[in-house]
Amino acid sequence: MSSRNSVHIIGGGPAGLMAAEAAREAGAEVDLHDQLGSVGRKLLIAGKGGLNLTHSEPFDVFVTRYGERRAQVESWLREFDADALRAWAAGLGVDTFVGSSGRVFPRDLKAAPLLRAWVRRLRAQGVRFHVNHEWRGWNEDGTLAFATPAGDIAVRADATVLALGGASWPVLGSDGRWTRPLAERGIDIAPLRPSNCGFDIHWSAHFAQRHAGDPLKPVVLEWIAPDGSVQRRQGECVITQYGIEGSLVYAASAALRDAIEREGHVRIHLDLLPDRKLVAIENALRAAPGKRSLSEQWRRSLGLAGVKAGLVREVLAAEALHDPIKVASALKALPLTLLRPRPLEEAISSAGGVRLEMLDEGLMLRQLPGVFCAGEMLDWEAPTGGYLLTACFASGRRAGAAAARWCLGQR
Ligand SMILES: Cc1cc2nc3c(=O)[nH]c(=O)nc-3n(C[C@H](O)[C@H](O)[C@H](O)COP(=O)(O)OP(=O)(O)OC[C@H]3O[C@@H](n4cnc5c(N)ncnc54)[C@H](O)[C@@H]3O)c2cc1C
Repeated sequence: MSSRNSVHIIGGGPAGLMAAEAAREAGAEVDLHDQLGSVGRKLLIAGKGGLNLTHSEPFDVFVTRYGERRAQVESWLREFDADALRAWAAGLGVDTFVGSSGRVFPRDLKAAPLLRAWVRRLRAQGVRFHVNHEWRGWNEDGTLAFATPAGDIAVRADATVLALGGASWPVLGSDGRWTRPLAERGIDIAPLRPSNCGFDIHWSAHFAQRHAGDPLKPVVLEWIAPDGSVQRRQGECVITQYGIEGSLVYAASAALRDAIEREGHVRIHLDLLPDRKLVAIENALRAAPGKRSLSEQWRRSLGLAGVKAGLVREVLAAEALHDPIKVASALKALPLTLLRPRPLEEAISSAGGVRLEMLDEGLMLRQLPGVFCAGEMLDWEAPTGGYLLTACFASGRRAGAAAARWCLGQR
């Protein structure tokens, strides 16, 4: 394949597409390869949840969401932040709005119109798309090795941007198999681990059968942060056959996953009645007429029924169910033991990836001059809330522009 003087981007997710745009704007020829038959599959699936593009909170709060990788991610976001992302979407004809939680969505809550308009514009700008091109690593002569329906091809590239994603939802193309060729070339890669994921809990068969799929809202989740501080957050989660998932659990998932890795399991507490005080609950339970069934007493005195009542029965011994102090304590601080995170394939995103210390300012691998990396394949993580996409876009811009400079400087 003719290839020199072109930036070759591998991976057509948000990071790769943004790298293509930035490289083209900087004046480079651009070829974009993806192993699937079309680009942006994960972005499309994100659209099913409304496509939370970014978040409207102030920049100095926004950057704290990237935890220990804050400094590096902040430097990408200084060039392409939430406002820049909204302006960019508007440039594609996609207006955005700020939801009640501060999250930013396209007005129609869909990804497909944005992706369609973007790919159309990239094609018009001259980006060449090569789908069904699976990158397998490098040949001995340093060329890029692709498997295609027409057979294997080798591409000589001056500048390559790898934007291969993590390893969650591999059916959407990001399968994490890129770790092997990079590790073989001495690139240090933090193991890919589930992030924004659910957790296993040992439910009784009766509880799981009865309540799997039931939403829990509103509840307050209490957990211990890595620095030992007690964290409390109100939100929603869902009981599953295997345990628990949902946005509230995802928000704490990095700390919970790490605690399980250290301790073998982790204890969380749920406040099932966040609007009521412990004493008020105790008093309400005491005042309930004793001749009614327990379920009826709970329902009438506290409006407690369904999954919340089921959880109290799940964690308390039978005799404790008649003790207002124990029931009230369980309702305000229901202890649950999380056994393990759900598998990476099911997670919203991946933690781990190419360690940022391997990269220079332009996101080029120091050990592989001319090879740049962007997006979720890099070793950073963030909760849901639009932080994932924003950092993917921003790192794509950084890598694409730097790859173009590199490529043009090589001519
Ligand atoms: C269900 C779900 C909902 C989500 N919702 C949101 C949300 O609302 N907001 C948010 O911020 N984030 C959300 N995310 C996360 C977000 O979609 C990802 O963080 C983002 O898509 C990562 O972008 P990326 O470009 O790095 O990788 P990806 O989007 O994963 O793209 C990687 C691309 O590389 C290609 N590829 C991989 N290996 C090869 C290879 N060997 N050869 C050739 N091509 C290859 C893949 O086919 C794929 O097209 C969601 C994720 C999921 C699973």
